[in-house]
Amino acid sequence: MVLMMAPGGTEEMARAVLAEGADAVYIGVMGWSRRGAVFEMSDEQIRRLIDHAAAMGKEVRIVVNTMPSSTEVPMFIERVRQYAGWGAAGFMVSDIGCMRLLRDQVPEAQVHTSVGCGITNVEDVRFLAEQGATYVVLPYRLSVREIAEIRATTGVGIEVFLFKTPSGGKICPGKCMMSSYFSFKRELDEHGKDLFHGSAGRGGDCLRVCQSHWRLNAGGVSLLEDMTIKSNPALWLEELPAYLGAGVNCLKVPGRDRSVELVRDITRLYRRAVDLILSTDNPNLSPFAEPLATCRERWRTERGRRDVRLIGQAEQIARVMPKVA
Ligand code: SF4
Repeated sequence: MVLMMAPGGTEEMARAVLAEGADAVYIGVMGWSRRGAVFEMSDEQIRRLIDHAAAMGKEVRIVVNTMPSSTEVPMFIERVRQYAGWGAAGFMVSDIGCMRLLRDQVPEAQVHTSVGCGITNVEDVRFLAEQGATYVVLPYRLSVREIAEIRATTGVGIEVFLFKTPSGGKICPGKCMMSSYFSFKRELDEHGKDLFHGSAGRGGDCLRVCQSHWRLNAGGVSLLEDMTIKSNPALWLEELPAYLGAGVNCLKVPGRDRSVELVRDITRLYRRAVDLILSTDNPNLSPFAEPLATCRERWRTERGRRDVRLIGQAEQIARVMPKVA
């Protein structure tokens, strides 16, 4: 079986993707996922969505992929126990210690490694499987051949994003902390958990500073002008039959911070494509080319708007930061 997960950045989006054929929706807990609060859910919303999904014979998977401090670990396990008790089918986790704790204390839960685990090779996968991972999410730079080898030698579930960067760069998704340097604002939520604005790993939002206009100077000499540090991922489809043939058994539609309309259309497109691929030996994907191109363009436009907004926040912070001599 191939599990297709789609994002629930808002309750409306979660309901829309389930209606469009996602097997599961993944949603972030307020203050505990790598997105800003506006794309995360309260406990009340989470409970409602779990009941809604169950009534459709579908699942909710919960994103708790920040890096908890020692004082936050008891809160972490209390929250995941609560969600599992309500019927959540699985959890996306970054922190290895918390992953082990989750496996020991909530053994019925499925555990997805988050992108923050920074997998780069088969030995990382083996280690995470030993810590209790049910699915490992692989970075989008791995080839089909590498994925097939990992699946064959580890036996663990393989999850991939349905978007990837055009180049095989080595920035490790989920490990970047650049935004944290631009914001020191910190507060406690009503449960006493720290929220660090600007730090995705500590309950805030990434400010997308890699997409700003960087300049590299050394000894007064300008080496590079107007560069972005990371290329942006785009939706992909063409290689999907090969990925599924390689043993990928969990697909993740991206877009928790995009519009409901766009995520709904992307989910519909992939649902149809996956069903076609799984039902025939030589699937003809050409009818998907045009809707895919349209979704890619809408994705690019929405991403541009979001990046401008977040980078603007980072630049505003940088302007008032004390200068280092
Ligand atoms: S600043 Fe860029 S590379 Fe770093 S976490 Fe944000 S999007 Fe990723």
